Amino acid sequence: MNVTHLECANCDVRYEAGKLHNLCTACGKPLLVQYDLEAASRTMTKESLRLREPSLWRYREVLPVVDDENIVSLGEGMTPLLKVDRLASTLSVKIDLYIKDESTNPTQSFKARGMTAAVSMANELGVTKTAAPSAGNAAGALAAYAARAGMEAHLFMPVDTPRANVVECEQNGAFVTLVDGLITDCGRIVADLKDAEGWFDVSTLKEPYRVEGKKTMGYELAEQFDWTLPDVILYPTGGGTGLIGMWKAFDEMEQMGLIGPERPRMVTVQAAGCAPIVKAFESGERFAEEFPNAHTSASGLRVPKAIGDFLILDAIRESGGTAVAVPDMQLIAAVREIGSAEGMFCAPEGAACLPALKKLIADGVVNEGEKVVIFNTGAGVKYLECFES
Ligand SMILES: *Cc1c(COP(=O)(O)O)cnc(C)c1O
Ligand SMILES: [Zn+2]
Repeated sequence: MNVTHLECANCDVRYEAGKLHNLCTACGKPLLVQYDLEAASRTMTKESLRLREPSLWRYREVLPVVDDENIVSLGEGMTPLLKVDRLASTLSVKIDLYIKDESTNPTQSFKARGMTAAVSMANELGVTKTAAPSAGNAAGALAAYAARAGMEAHLFMPVDTPRANVVECEQNGAFVTLVDGLITDCGRIVADLKDAEGWFDVSTLKEPYRVEGKKTMGYELAEQFDWTLPDVILYPTGGGTGLIGMWKAFDEMEQMGLIGPERPRMVTVQAAGCAPIVKAFESGERFAEEFPNAHTSASGLRVPKAIGDFLILDAIRESGGTAVAVPDMQLIAAVREIGSAEGMFCAPEGAACLPALKKLIADGVVNEGEKVVIFNTGAGVKYLECFES
């Protein structure tokens, strides 16, 4: 509702709403959806939200679908925001630590948020065949939402994608191809085949609505914290869609009068074996170079080149945040640390935030008394290979 138009995040060229779009045809960068926030704020108020369904579609006024009938939902969003005192007590300074547990989403990861929005829009605009490259969880989510919408899903994943992701896609009726390469290679295959096959490319940020679904994490955080934001957010970053989305959500909320001008420091967490954003952040670049020989068992972080790199880097810098790389050994060990302290079996991507947080505390970047949120983006049970031996 309330979409006025789409706008290139890089060159500001405008595009009409209500049509299928991928990247900006002028510069090849992502398009972002713009809303009439004045209109949205009339009905989406702190009071009206209290009575709404516990799904991300509660933020209906700032989500893109026009007709409710076109929404394809499996009950995603409004995930628990859990205070984790037992885990916090193991840290060297006293902070207010929370985990936003995205593993409770349909298909067990926050990719469901993006896909409910993207598939709903594709549904509204008449798409019948979708395709996407994926590190695993995006494929699982697309397979589910496409099945629910009666669409085809053509999925391309690296051969060493966690087995759970491959099996769930197959069992949800998708067409699965395993590729001897990285997610960027899978993306090239989709780009090469899509026109001949009549597929709509749902690659993150090459499609403008997944980020709209993921931005709801920002709305939920604010609502769950009674319309305040934490001091620091640690976000395991692959394509960066969630971080970009939350940053956009904060602006929208301020314009709607729901929050003030304060912002959390946004921290990108990556695996040391694939840390293009960390590298670009440290060297002061606005665009990140493709990371060579990308490898990590946190498959969602194995994105050597992100099309939204400049949007991630802009948000980190504007927020006064930073970027941290974590070695695989540490991020896998952190799964057990969080699990045994709090009973959350996290995805290694989410767990990576804990060693990153410890580093920030040791470096004096996160200080006593601060309110910190870690995003656990998926479920550990999908990564059994990581815990063998
Ligand atoms: C995809 C994924 C990520 C990275 O998300 P982006 O928004 O693309 O940066 C992190 N964790 C898990 C579990 C994922 O599936
Ligand atoms: Zn452009």
